Amino acid sequence: MNKRQKNKQLKKWLIKNGYSDKKGKLHCLECGNSLSFKDEYQKRYLVCNELCYMRSVGFSWRDFL
Ligand SMILES: [Zn+2]
Repeated sequence: MNKRQKNKQLKKWLIKNGYSDKKGKLHCLECGNSLSFKDEYQKRYLVCNELCYMRSVGFSWRDFL
């Protein structure tokens, strides 16, 4: 499977699961910011940054103090 097909499949899956709007844009699962398909991190975790990722998996800064 090439990269383009993979992206197409991912996009399909995301739309099916409600992570994407009609324009094909992704949104952060935590804060709702729009994400970029070009950003590997955002694409992989469906969050806009590390902070949102931690929140999405149930961590907070308090867990590290
Ligand atoms: Zn976010």
